[in-house]
Amino acid sequence: MAKKDYYESLGINKTATSDEIKSSFRKLAKKYHPDVNKSPDAETKFKEIQEAYAVLSDENRRHQYDQYGHDAFTNSGGNNYGDFDFSSFDFSDIFENIFGSNFGFSSSSSSSRRRATQGNDTLLKITLDFEEAAFGIKKDIIINLLDTCGECHGHGGHGENTCTECRGSGSISTEQRSLFGTFLTKTTCPKCEGTGKTYNKICSICNGRKRIKKDKKINVSIPSGINNGDRLRLSGQGEAGLNGGPNGNIYLEIKVLPHEFYERDNDDIYLEVPLTITEAILGTKKNIPTIYGIIKLTIPSGTNSGDKVRIKGKGINNESDYNLGDMYVIFNVKIPKKLSKEQKKIIDHLNKTNLEDSEINKFNRFTDKKNKK
Ligand SMILES: [Zn+2]
Ligand SMILES: [Zn+2]
Repeated sequence: MAKKDYYESLGINKTATSDEIKSSFRKLAKKYHPDVNKSPDAETKFKEIQEAYAVLSDENRRHQYDQYGHDAFTNSGGNNYGDFDFSSFDFSDIFENIFGSNFGFSSSSSSSRRRATQGNDTLLKITLDFEEAAFGIKKDIIINLLDTCGECHGHGGHGENTCTECRGSGSISTEQRSLFGTFLTKTTCPKCEGTGKTYNKICSICNGRKRIKKDKKINVSIPSGINNGDRLRLSGQGEAGLNGGPNGNIYLEIKVLPHEFYERDNDDIYLEVPLTITEAILGTKKNIPTIYGIIKLTIPSGTNSGDKVRIKGKGINNESDYNLGDMYVIFNVKIPKKLSKEQKKIIDHLNKTNLEDSEINKFNRFTDKKNKK
């Protein structure tokens, strides 16, 4: 089952503004909320639009989605659908606007602002050349992401006090009217926004946001044998979390540039080696460049185009599957297109000697038989 395009889910086009995204989500959430809509597919539909909104309403995630589609949020790059984690996404504001603050969400979501929240995951593409991928490499990468504010150490301010409004609990009890009547409910404390703390002075660096965008330098160790399309997960090195939540992860997506001579099949390396006709006919010794250096190979007389030699253990030493690949040399006999007068004479002379072998003789007999009919 192909996953539905997020823009399609919300019924908007790719150029939609954030207001259009919000308004479309509200309309659809109101229509498909399982407490309102009793049709059997309402819940699925509701989840679908929730997920689409969680991605498209966030500038960073939207950008990632535009670039990489659903792959941007799957962990292994495989087809594991529905593993996008929007549990940390705070829908409470928007649902309060739609339904009033106590429509099935308030008790859990009212405290969500103070909940420890993991930072978002970040996807980064990096390009390696053939040998960097074959041998692995240590690389410094610079990535711009939200990091804990160093000035206030992620608190958002200086001079911490317990919130006088909620007495540090982060929530206050209020009487709420909803579609189902009136009852008492807990809502987020408006003064401290659920943190239970207030500050004498808001941090001037992050303006109380606790995190700031920074260029972060990360030393990455890329294992040998990494291949085109592989993803590396740098656990906990991504965007800083909020309220003590863990950092997000960074995913590195690897692109390996093609090599001029080597071709790779899993951990095996293929190398095409051109031979002159005399090398092919008479046999020779030839220097063969492996990724580990030159080796001398004896090429037997009578070598044909397409003949293959396996050189054991000269493929890629793959750290992630502990496999050592082989190298395959494939010969390509180059028939000259132009010959000098002298060369022509020699070849003609050669032709007059008996060059035919059993296979050619067999074929000639077959042609003669057809000719006689
Ligand atoms: Zn408070
Ligand atoms: Zn700060």
